Amino acid sequence: MEEPLIIKRLVVGYLSANCYIVGLESDGQGMVIDPGGNAETILKAVSETGLEITTIVLTHGHSDHIAALRDVQDKTGAQVAIHTEDADFLEGRGSYSSQFGIEYRTPHPPDLLLRDGDTVGVGSLSYKVIHTPGHTPGSICLQTGDKVFTGDTIFHRGIGTTLMPGSSRSQLLESIQERIMTLPDETKLYPGHGRETTVAIERRDNPYTRAGYRGW
Ligand SMILES: [Zn+2]
Ligand SMILES: [Zn+2]
Repeated sequence: MEEPLIIKRLVVGYLSANCYIVGLESDGQGMVIDPGGNAETILKAVSETGLEITTIVLTHGHSDHIAALRDVQDKTGAQVAIHTEDADFLEGRGSYSSQFGIEYRTPHPPDLLLRDGDTVGVGSLSYKVIHTPGHTPGSICLQTGDKVFTGDTIFHRGIGTTLMPGSSRSQLLESIQERIMTLPDETKLYPGHGRETTVAIERRDNPYTRAGYRGW
């Protein structure tokens, strides 16, 4: 039987974002996706998994997904990966940054600048980068096997806001239609907020996935 992937979901930070700890026990290595706050909670959960964190991947650069980045970076020594078009979100002035009124320690510069189709290797697994611009220009989804971490691109019955600077509603709907709804029905989706879901469920229940939907 195939070894199950460890996927630990933590709800962190001021907007209740999902932070995921993912890896294979047999690898002893794993990654953190979106350390959005509560660094101590994340680090404690990491030590409970027994995984050594080699990589931190950011689905996008909003502060509710990166507020604990610097602390998790410092404690784990992991490399940080973000899509090239969201890298400026990590730049700060001085030792503290502010984004949308939230203050947090400025992270170190990213180690890996991602583009569509890149793969991020962690232990024996590789994760494919699917560029899904719209919520931010450099939003990505991260796919391994039949599992996709979607950040704020798609949620159960919803999508990420496009009311932020740099957001584009038409681009987001196109990303969802062309990059997510084209995946097999049984694909499991792990969003940046809220519960996990599947492509089949969102095809059926999510109003934003209907072909031709332009909304509002
Ligand atoms: Zn966001
Ligand atoms: Zn978010």
